[in-house]
Amino acid sequence: MSAAPTPPLPADPCEAAPAHIGAIAPYQPGKPISELARELGFAERDIVKLASNENPLGMSPKARAAIEAALPELARYPDGNGFELKSALAARHGVPMERIVLGNGSNDVLEMVAAAFLGPGRAAVFSAHAFAVYPLATQARGARGIVVRARDYGHDLAAMRGALDADACVIFIANPNNPTGTLVPGAELEAFLRAVPPHVIVVLDEAYHEYLPDHARYDSVPWLARHRNLVITRTFSKAYGLAGLRVGFALCDPQVADLLNRVRQPFNVNSLALTAAAAALGDAEFVRRSHERNLAGMRELTAGFQRLGLAWIPSYGNFVSVEVPRQGGTSRAEALYQELLRRGVIVRPVAGYAMPDHLRVTVGLAAENERCLAALAAALRSRPA
Ligand SMILES: *Cc1c(COP(=O)(O)O)cnc(C)c1O
Repeated sequence: MSAAPTPPLPADPCEAAPAHIGAIAPYQPGKPISELARELGFAERDIVKLASNENPLGMSPKARAAIEAALPELARYPDGNGFELKSALAARHGVPMERIVLGNGSNDVLEMVAAAFLGPGRAAVFSAHAFAVYPLATQARGARGIVVRARDYGHDLAAMRGALDADACVIFIANPNNPTGTLVPGAELEAFLRAVPPHVIVVLDEAYHEYLPDHARYDSVPWLARHRNLVITRTFSKAYGLAGLRVGFALCDPQVADLLNRVRQPFNVNSLALTAAAAALGDAEFVRRSHERNLAGMRELTAGFQRLGLAWIPSYGNFVSVEVPRQGGTSRAEALYQELLRRGVIVRPVAGYAMPDHLRVTVGLAAENERCLAALAAALRSRPA
């Protein structure tokens, strides 16, 4: 006597993939400069890309020098434990190295959290209009996403706490959030952590932390001592200007770090990223300049929106979402996005974030912001039928 045979998998390999994988809506990145150049026959230098929250100052010269010095060693595997970068981060943040997990971008760390704590029958809570990677990472693990409505486009922490059900074991919070730019004050986050059940992992994604103006600064790192369920993530992609290298990290409880390290690839951060990030961390002057350019550029963009009579969501990041007035009750954001592309300006549509009337604009150099505003003014005037 043998057990009833399990039904065979479908013959088509794609049909045999778990249903939750097929249900994923792929991440939509900002349009690359090279792609628009190909499509329009423009020179790449004539295109302004303000679509992916990249640093308009480029990268730190110290990071660049470190990369050049590391090139001859590329035949070797990277240091899988990232000792040099972890010790620099440990010194910077005043935490032991066991509390640090390195990622191939902080995106990688978010995926590790999902791999370690989510799965079928489990759920993650995140806000409407929050970073797209949270639902993606959740779905990829066969877990359920619980989307909480936003308040003035920002995180409603009380509602998020109320949305926790018996399956919920991860909460994702982006502070500031992308693409809305909204910020939850540090004191409110701290109170939230005290109120959340201790078995629920709280991911505090601080990708834009370095851009906070002085009056909004807070330090979440000391909270780690009281909350074993807190995972802070940071990145070298934004203020440190290393988006193309892919490096980010988590600060968390040592045992949580141990779990995350079990699910990561052994060499998830490449050699150039490791050495460049360590050098960038030591270039406070570059980060200070990036911060200053961002504040000035944010004023340039928002003053321009004001002149054009456009509303925007006040932002604490290096980007701002501007509202495109509707025409005859229908959204014009996609049409305006296309108009801007024809004028060589790439911004980011955010309809996929349930914001069909907004376009997200990354803060650029003064000349880039000016180009964007001029294109926006012309595109708004063009009023297609
Ligand atoms: C850009 C961004 C990240 C960082 O992504 P990397 O993988 O580190 O490049 C993380 N979270 C949010 C909210 C972001 O906008």
